Amino acid sequence: MLTRRQTLGAAALVAVPFVRHARAADVPRFALGVASGAPRPDGMVLWTRLTAPPGQDDLPEVVPVRWELARDEAFGQVVASGVEAAERTWAHSVHAEPAGLEPGRWYWYRFRALGQVSAIGRTRTAPAPDAPATLDFAIASCQRYEVNHYAAWRHLATDGLDLVLFLGDYLYEYGAQPTNVRQVGLGRIRTLDDYRARYALYRSDPALQAAHAACPWILVWDDHEVDNDYAGLQGQDLDPAFPARRADAYQAYWEHQPFPKAARPSREGMRIFDRYRWGRLATIHALDDRQYRDPQACPRPGRGGSNTLPRRDCPGMLDPARSLLGAAQEAWLAQGWDLERPWNLLAQQTLMSPLSWRDPAGPDGPMVWTDGWDGYPAARQRLLDTVRERRVPGVVVLGGDVHAHYVADVHANPDDPRSPVLASEFCGTSISSHGWPQTRLDGIRGFHPHLKFARSDRRGAVRFRLDDRRLQADLLAVDDPARPDSAVGPLRRFVVEADRPGPQPA
Ligand code: FE
Ligand code: CA
Repeated sequence: MLTRRQTLGAAALVAVPFVRHARAADVPRFALGVASGAPRPDGMVLWTRLTAPPGQDDLPEVVPVRWELARDEAFGQVVASGVEAAERTWAHSVHAEPAGLEPGRWYWYRFRALGQVSAIGRTRTAPAPDAPATLDFAIASCQRYEVNHYAAWRHLATDGLDLVLFLGDYLYEYGAQPTNVRQVGLGRIRTLDDYRARYALYRSDPALQAAHAACPWILVWDDHEVDNDYAGLQGQDLDPAFPARRADAYQAYWEHQPFPKAARPSREGMRIFDRYRWGRLATIHALDDRQYRDPQACPRPGRGGSNTLPRRDCPGMLDPARSLLGAAQEAWLAQGWDLERPWNLLAQQTLMSPLSWRDPAGPDGPMVWTDGWDGYPAARQRLLDTVRERRVPGVVVLGGDVHAHYVADVHANPDDPRSPVLASEFCGTSISSHGWPQTRLDGIRGFHPHLKFARSDRRGAVRFRLDDRRLQADLLAVDDPARPDSAVGPLRRFVVEADRPGPQPA
C-alpha cells in the first residue's frame, strides 16, 4: 500500500512531462511584441524576438520563424512571406526583410513559431523617391523605464504617425532606486545577458509595444544604450574592459531593434548612420554621435566623460581636429546633403544650439557642458559652414538627450546671435526620464535669444506634420508621467516655412 507521500510522488512523476508540455505551450513566445523599421520605397525590416520562461531558456538553438506581410489587416492578401532562423547566438531575434513591395503604402505583418502567432504590426513603405509626399512623424528619446510610465507612447501609438524617429537613450544601464515609480529589481548592467534582460523589460511595456506595432521606426542610439557619457571606445570610468562591454551592448541593441541583417555588429562596431528618402519631400540623415567621437575635452581628474566648465578654461575644446561624428561620417554627411528636396531632417542625439550656464557675452565667456555639440564647437561650425556654402534647403535639427523641449534658431555662427538663421532646431523632451527643475532654464533664458522655447519640467515627445511648404511641430506634454493612463496634450505649436529657416510660434 502506498503512503500518501509515495502516492503524491508517483503522481508527480507521471504528471511532470505533461505539466512541462502544457507549460511550454502556454509560454508566450512573442511576449516582446513586434516592430518594424528602416522603411524604404520597396521594403522595410520586420522584427520580433522569441521568448522563454524567466530564468529557463527552453528554446531550441535555432527556431524557424515564419513571417507574413499583407495588404490588409485580415491577411486576406498576403504579398510576401518567408522563414527566418531565430538563433540563440542572437537572442532568438528575427530581422525579416521583405522586398519588392509597393512604395508609399501600408502593410500588416505577423510571425508564427512553436505553434503560436505574434501580435499584428502595421508598417509602411516610404513613398517613391519622385512621388509627392507628406510625413506625419514624431521624435522621441530618453525612456528610462523605472522612473515613470509610458503615457507618451500610449498617446503616440494612436496618433496616425507614418514614422517614429527614436533619438537615443532607448534604455538606461543604471540600477534601481527605492524612489522609483516602477518597482523593479535592477542591477547596473554589466553583461550581454544584462543588456538583453533590460531590453526585454522595456519591451514588456504594452504602450511601448503598441508604438512599435503602429508604424516603422528609424532609430539612433545615444550613450545609455551602452554607458553614460562614453566616447568611442572610452568609458567614463576609463575601464580597460570597456570595448568588450560596448560590443555586448551593440549586439543587444541590434538583437532588439528593427535594423537589417547587414547592420549586424561585429565586435568592432555597428554602423547605424544612414540616409532615408521620403518621396520628393525630405531626406532624413540619421547620425551616430557616440561611436566615432573624440573623447570629451577637459574631463574631471582621473575620469573620462563629460564636464561643465568655462570654455576659456579648456582651450583643447576648440581644437579643430576634434570631431563628434568622426571624419568618415562628417564627410558622408557633407557630401550627402539633399539639394533637391525641400527638407533635410537631421535625426541625431542632442541639442545643437549653444547653451551656456552663464552669460556667454559676459567677461568670462560661456560655461558649457562638454558632452554635447557645445563641447565640439569646431565640428559644429564645419557642419554649419557646409550647410551655408552649399545652400542646403530646409535643414531641421532633431535631437533629444537633455530631457527638455528646446525650440531654437540655428545661427550660421552659433556664438553670434546676429549671424543669419541657417536652420531650425527641435530638441524633444524625454519620454519618461527626469529633467532639470524649470527654474534652472528660466535663469538662463535671458541670454539665449536663439531659444524660442525651453521646458525641462515636462515629459513627452514632439509630433510633426511635414509637407513641401511647411513643418508643423506640436510639443507634447504628459500630465502625470507616473500614471500609465495619463492624458497627453499639446504644450505649444511652432511652424517652419520651407523658404524661411527658424521656427515661428503658431
Ligand atoms: Fe537621456
Ligand atoms: Ca544621453
